Amino acid sequence: MQKTKLKEYAKLIAQKGANVQKGQVVWITASLDQPEFVEMLVKECYVLGAKRVTVDWEYLPLTVLGSKYMSLKELSSVEEWQKQKMQYQVDNLPVRIYLESDDPDGLNKANQEKLAKARMAQYPIKKPYIDAIDNKYQWCIAAVPSKAWAKKVFPNEKTSVAVEKLWQAILFTSRADKNPIEAWNKHNKTLHEKCSLLNSLKLKYLHYTSNRGTDLKVELLPNADFLAGSEKTQLSNIEFNPNIPSEEVFTTPKAGCAEGIVYATKPLSYQGVLIENFYLQFKDGKVYNVYAEKNQAQLEQMVNMDEGAKMLGECALVPQNSPISESNILFYNTLFDENASCHLALGRGFSNCIHDYDKYTQEDFDKMGVNTSMIHVDFMIGSDDLDIIGITQDGKEIQIFKDGRWAI
Ligand code: ZN
Repeated sequence: MQKTKLKEYAKLIAQKGANVQKGQVVWITASLDQPEFVEMLVKECYVLGAKRVTVDWEYLPLTVLGSKYMSLKELSSVEEWQKQKMQYQVDNLPVRIYLESDDPDGLNKANQEKLAKARMAQYPIKKPYIDAIDNKYQWCIAAVPSKAWAKKVFPNEKTSVAVEKLWQAILFTSRADKNPIEAWNKHNKTLHEKCSLLNSLKLKYLHYTSNRGTDLKVELLPNADFLAGSEKTQLSNIEFNPNIPSEEVFTTPKAGCAEGIVYATKPLSYQGVLIENFYLQFKDGKVYNVYAEKNQAQLEQMVNMDEGAKMLGECALVPQNSPISESNILFYNTLFDENASCHLALGRGFSNCIHDYDKYTQEDFDKMGVNTSMIHVDFMIGSDDLDIIGITQDGKEIQIFKDGRWAI
């Protein structure tokens, strides 16, 4: 990929994505796949005035090794220095940038059961820190290609060609291949207008149906808004784009209020394992039955992580004619696939969807019905035959989506 294009992409992530401010600390999480790009990104952060940029390098095979050789007790413990690191984050609110490049099958050989148990044990220790920084800091997730991921997406190409093609796909779908900053200003405006329109309808339910058999009714929260594109941090009011790309308009539904069945329309990569051709059944807002043609056990483990993992934390609307859907590429990566398709998420909801969210505490959010969980996992349900009817507070029905596209 041309260096000038990559430089513009790095600038987009630092400036429009994370919106690094003068004097801020930046933490970047990246894998070993694109060190030259990470260097470009670090430079852009400094150019914007960051006072310190730290990179946490990750490498999936080490997670596999840890899951094999570490005892469950060791794997489950949160070390004192890790707590101090989280406390530093609470005190200083560093900007976070996550560069994704993981092999979608990269954890296939890990001990999944042990990893899940360790996560469950760690969560109560980490939760107070996670809650304390929620909505208060700028963050951005974007992607760069790894060889393994590129080969998964383009299996018939030789590795170097596959990586180049994945770069092209990432930059195209991220609106980063031509005047990215300008493109994102325009894109944010369009997304925010769509939100205002949806919020003016005061919807109480979304009713999803499709020929595949989806028939699901989800209750929304009366004081939750639809959000999209850029957001602002609480207190400091800094605008940032948490996801690059981002096509979704989303809200946080009422936990414990969903009925029916929903069919996934794309495979789901969860903790490095691919779950394929699956459906979920809801009663009283909770998943009570799941089926998957491939890796059903992984799906069962996911919904059993905690009580909140059985309930919805997100309803996102994405038309089938977004650049990502039109690229016709299955990325096997949620950041992209979620922006190609209407989706739902099981697990943690978004408290920042609540109107005037800065006036409430975590306890208030729990009472209102914003779901809490250690997981937040998106799964895709969009298709060319998906219809969504919105039902307003006073019982009026409005067609929101018709044949997988906006009807309003
Ligand atoms: Zn989403």
